[in-house]
Amino acid sequence: MRITNISAYQVDLPLKEGRYSWSNGNFVETFDATVVEVETDAGITGFGECTPLGPAYLPAYAAGVRAGLRELAPKLIGLDPRDLGTLNAAMDAALRGHPYVKAPIDVACWDILGKAAGLPVYRLLGGAQMRRVHLYRAVSQQSPEEMAAKVTAYRKEGYTKFQLKVGGEADADIARIKACAKVLGPGDVMDADANTGWTMHEAARVVNGVRDVDVYIEQPCRTYEECLTVRRRTALPFILDENIDGLPILLRAISDGAMDAINLKISKVGGLTKARLIRDVAVEAGLAMIIEDTWGGDIVTAAIAHLAQSTPAEFLFAATDFNSYGTKDIAKGAPKRDKDGFMTAADRPGLGVELIREALGEPVLSVG
Ligand code: MG
Repeated sequence: MRITNISAYQVDLPLKEGRYSWSNGNFVETFDATVVEVETDAGITGFGECTPLGPAYLPAYAAGVRAGLRELAPKLIGLDPRDLGTLNAAMDAALRGHPYVKAPIDVACWDILGKAAGLPVYRLLGGAQMRRVHLYRAVSQQSPEEMAAKVTAYRKEGYTKFQLKVGGEADADIARIKACAKVLGPGDVMDADANTGWTMHEAARVVNGVRDVDVYIEQPCRTYEECLTVRRRTALPFILDENIDGLPILLRAISDGAMDAINLKISKVGGLTKARLIRDVAVEAGLAMIIEDTWGGDIVTAAIAHLAQSTPAEFLFAATDFNSYGTKDIAKGAPKRDKDGFMTAADRPGLGVELIREALGEPVLSVG
């Protein structure tokens, strides 16, 4: 089987709530998604998607996905998409870094491998380790009262896990965490994600200010070393996200005891092939994971579901159903959140999704 054509589509994904805000005054109102279609001479087609959280979150941006694909796609024509190791080596040889550009191609080739084998991707990634995948709800940064009201509303939608967007002014963040803690129910889980927004002294103030609250602290500061310093002065459970962008830093962080859990984003590490490696190492090291992506629509949500479903249940902290945050469907067959706040990967070959062509329009790139 050979890759004969790689196409990309640009699609806007507006938000149901109008705006998503996080640390340092960052916000997005419409997400800029890139959908990738990989065609083969066997008549099997695979789909992938990359949707960065704007240009100021990770070293990734939406137009960069398309620019990178223009560079990379011509060098992949003729390769066998089922050989994920060869494919990833070819991508890394052709373009240094830029994992977010490679992720949608890698995911599309997993989709092809699953379709060729007649198996869902979760089976190829290790098999279903749970019946359904527990979700968390990200709570956009607003006033403490508004965020607590959102948590109350999300609980009615079935969610029991919440990730508060903090990383603002320390006193306000302490108030946000305390206000949301008051509206939680028994068994609910809360994570305060600063998204690198605090300096070390601000992080120290917040972790001291909420030391009696049952809350996880996620990625307080910009650098790994700053986060490690905060980690060593708090007893609160600790998650690293932005800094854990590949295996080398994960190994160092395991050695340093730098966290209790990681946030594993598929496009941050370059696709399902590399995410699976990190997932498996994390499991062996006893680290739980939030499995998700920077953002996305139906295709990203499907890829998340397959990776999460094949992760040992005790190590899956939560996953994300990004397709329920937006107003636009881009693929049929993607998992949908159930009334209890879970989703389930499709039990169909590959990712189990089919593009809604009219939602995508004409390709902005086609190489073959
Ligand atoms: Mg995070």
